[in-house]
Amino acid sequence: MTNKLDPWSSSEINDYSKLFEEFGISPFENVLPEIPSPHMYMRRRVIFGHRDYEQIAEAMRTGAPFSVMDGFMPSGKVHLGHKMVMDQIIWHQQKGASAFVGIADREAFSVRGFSWQKCREIGVEEYILSLIALGFKPDGLIYFQSGCGSVKDLAFELGVKVNFSELSAIYGFSGETNLSHMISVATQAADILQPQLEEFGGPKPVVVPVGPDQDPHLRLTRGLAGKMSMFRVEERENANGGKYLSVRSKGAPKEALQELKKQIPGKVKLYEEHLDIIQTPDYPFLERLVSQINQPEKKRYFTAELEEVSKFANEIKPYEFSGYEEYFVFRKVWKLTRKILDEIVAKVAAEFEGYAFIPPASTYHRFMSGLQGGKMSSSIPDSYIALTDDPKEGAKKVKRAKTGGCVTLEEQKKLGGKPDECSVFELLLFHLAENDDELLEIREECVCGTRMCGSCKQLAAEKMYEFLKDHQEKREQAREHLDEYNIIYKK
Ligand code: SF4
Repeated sequence: MTNKLDPWSSSEINDYSKLFEEFGISPFENVLPEIPSPHMYMRRRVIFGHRDYEQIAEAMRTGAPFSVMDGFMPSGKVHLGHKMVMDQIIWHQQKGASAFVGIADREAFSVRGFSWQKCREIGVEEYILSLIALGFKPDGLIYFQSGCGSVKDLAFELGVKVNFSELSAIYGFSGETNLSHMISVATQAADILQPQLEEFGGPKPVVVPVGPDQDPHLRLTRGLAGKMSMFRVEERENANGGKYLSVRSKGAPKEALQELKKQIPGKVKLYEEHLDIIQTPDYPFLERLVSQINQPEKKRYFTAELEEVSKFANEIKPYEFSGYEEYFVFRKVWKLTRKILDEIVAKVAAEFEGYAFIPPASTYHRFMSGLQGGKMSSSIPDSYIALTDDPKEGAKKVKRAKTGGCVTLEEQKKLGGKPDECSVFELLLFHLAENDDELLEIREECVCGTRMCGSCKQLAAEKMYEFLKDHQEKREQAREHLDEYNIIYKK
């Protein structure tokens, strides 16, 4: 069965692994070893996929600038599903990201028909208070789309590069779709690209943590990042199969291309609408590299490209740079050359009032299921726990939740339970058990039948009560400190 991704209905994703093939989402486990102290959702495989997260992991490791961005449509109660996204925003902010949170009131206005006033009330009372209570720091930006001039202007500019056929293909829009809904889509792409505007420090990697249903926005925005940029850096092959980098442009001023040629060190060939980089030296990097690679056992992956790089390195430095070093040497030189080039291209594009957006990265997390099994639904209060639920009521909901236990205690002792089909275990996994060892122990005891659902429910209900009580106290404190936060409201 084909997965259909629709950001406006809570469609169930029946097989996450299919997303890898159908939409080009990469498995998260591949990038996990590169992340310093990964978040609980990463360690526990709640986050299962990503696009381009390598660049975020690298920024975290090296201290390079990066951003995290996410949005919330002010449509109803803030619940544990929203908490998952907020947790990830806050974690990235703690890891050094500049954080941006958009309250998608344009979307709520166009899709739900909410008034601006209602959007503001829900935005503050539900989402912003909980975001701050969970630990969002005041140096991040929170804004209502309708009040943010830079997002609205950028959305309008992005609109030039999107047409109806494309929106139909991505979102299934029809002749019945209202124009404001389409504008709200461009606004969300602008939300995602905004952190890379000059006023926010220019191009940088941006990660957007989402559920897989939001992937259409990412696909659209990644395409727009390329279409809006003044230059496009491409890897190309020459007639001999050797690789080189080329900077392509459509309609960039001639002076901009000439300026690029001036700024790129190494051999550069300028054509009418593009330039090819034949060699780009990076001295300090090669210096470090040469000292690292004199290891004879790493001589088995000879490539023609590497020989080119080696030859080039020998020209610029008096080292004995062997042509038979490991393949990774070439990849590293290439990667770094590319990075330097991206920086120069971004600088020149800004000088000539053009964009140089890096396609946004994203992570994909599993959805929480409803407390009674099936989907969580905002119209069924028993299917989810709101962060504003009375703590006693929250605890009761846990006790009423569907478990993966057997019908009788005897059976459960004999056969064990099914934690993967258990809403209570899911609550512990996603939110309540901070300690991985504690969680593993619960799982093992469940599977081998030494743990009964009653004790599990009791534990989860107590934890839920404590969490909600504490969170709601923090929400009240957040209310007192709202004016210390950088929040842009609709005028
Ligand atoms: S013992 Fe715990 S984890 Fe296992 S099915 Fe029952 S409630 Fe779920």
